[in-house]
Amino acid sequence: MKTLAEYLDLATQAHGHLCAGQVLGVRLAMLGLRELGIDDPTAERKRLVTYVEIDRCVTDAVALVANCRLGKRALKFRDWGKVAATFVDLKNGRAVRIAAKESSKQTAREMFPGLEKEAGQQKAYAQLSDDVLFDKQWVKVKVAPEDLPGFKGPRVVCAQCGEGINFNREVLVNGRTLCRSCAGERYYERL
Ligand SMILES: [Zn+2]
Ligand SMILES: [Zn+2]
Repeated sequence: MKTLAEYLDLATQAHGHLCAGQVLGVRLAMLGLRELGIDDPTAERKRLVTYVEIDRCVTDAVALVANCRLGKRALKFRDWGKVAATFVDLKNGRAVRIAAKESSKQTAREMFPGLEKEAGQQKAYAQLSDDVLFDKQWVKVKVAPEDLPGFKGPRVVCAQCGEGINFNREVLVNGRTLCRSCAGERYYERL
């Protein structure tokens, strides 16, 4: 595992700036990896799947340290608006969920009252202990076969729009195989 400073350098480059979220995210992911006993996720690429629960600064840092990317199917997003992530070791099924404590932000803000808010928080997140910053929970995650990196399955075609659907994401409606959009889960409207 790299040091906090090394990860922060990489996170700053990847994310575009250094922020309190990067520091918190790097710390969160380092704790998760340590708990699972995974020292270098870049060396064991298919071993780890990470579920993130928010799409904010912190997420970029978590994904970087865990070396889990959306495009590799190793990063899963659950839009729950929570600063938390679950790290799943596919080798043995162990999984740990790390959540930022509700009190962590306030604690960080109070630690360096002389500093400007963001700078103080960054510094505090780098120094506070894991116990102060995070809650840790061992959990069980059922990763469906079609959600695993490297899953190979049949690709089907939506009976309505004709677009291809991968990874068993089709739904059966009144005997017709449809994509989620045609089945009504649409997040966009056609103009
Ligand atoms: Zn940021
Ligand atoms: Zn369709």
